[in-house]
Amino acid sequence: MEAATSTPALKAKDYKSDINPIWCPGCGDFGVLAAMSKAAAYLQLPKERLAMVSGIGCSSRLPAYIDSYGFHGIHGRSLAIAAGLKAARPDLTVVVSGGDGDGFSIGGNHFLHACRRNMDLTYIVMDNEVYGMTKGQASPTTQPDWTRSKLTPRGTGVRRFQPTALALAAGASFIARGFTGDPSDLTRLIVQAIQHPGFAFLHVLSPCQTYQPEQKDWKHLVHPNAAEATDDPVEAARRIQMDDGMSLGLLYAQELPSWQPPHLSSATLPEIEAEFQL
Ligand code: SF4
Repeated sequence: MEAATSTPALKAKDYKSDINPIWCPGCGDFGVLAAMSKAAAYLQLPKERLAMVSGIGCSSRLPAYIDSYGFHGIHGRSLAIAAGLKAARPDLTVVVSGGDGDGFSIGGNHFLHACRRNMDLTYIVMDNEVYGMTKGQASPTTQPDWTRSKLTPRGTGVRRFQPTALALAAGASFIARGFTGDPSDLTRLIVQAIQHPGFAFLHVLSPCQTYQPEQKDWKHLVHPNAAEATDDPVEAARRIQMDDGMSLGLLYAQELPSWQPPHLSSATLPEIEAEFQL
């Protein structure tokens, strides 16, 4: 009898690690884990060539739950870590995950520069408008009149960070929004983001059941984008200005030059030290 030589296709469950998520029951982040696993299976990503990178926060636990290489980094620095990894190993599929606090507050600067470098990374931000892991403080996307946190009992009074507008202005070449309550669409968007040759920013509405229970209503508020995706940044900017923050789908995609790291030096450490000697 002839031995089977073909490798069996990987299924979504094959990408799930044996670590049980410790998210609260009903947390939206479960939807991203499911969609990410399905997207990896759809693309048949070899596990040894998939690297999940994150910062700190509830959603940044994602790499632990995916059976691939992973790096649970430090707060707000996931994109810097991912950029370094991609520069050193351009053959890898690098997917970065995190939340609105991690990505838009302490990590906000890295976000802007990752957009303009346009390296081939997928950045999934699970936005629940709150710092969940530290028990419910206002984040950059929190509504200004949200008063539940003791740190901001009168609300923040500050206009919200506009992730899609900033991504476009900073030069991201792929901008989309998904919702964890629509797992099929979210899977499709993650597939598109990974396939996109450049920096793909995927803004995901991911409700926090514990500190933002009103977000259960998001399922009644989300709606598809009114039009097909555009490759025109002016048109994308116009649509973002009119956006209510609840529109779903691919908004903008175009192929832009990607920053390439300079050829890595083969110099030895003493040679490098000598070069920088005063
Ligand atoms: Fe999810 Fe919120 Fe619980 Fe964190 S605190 S695991 S974001 S429901």
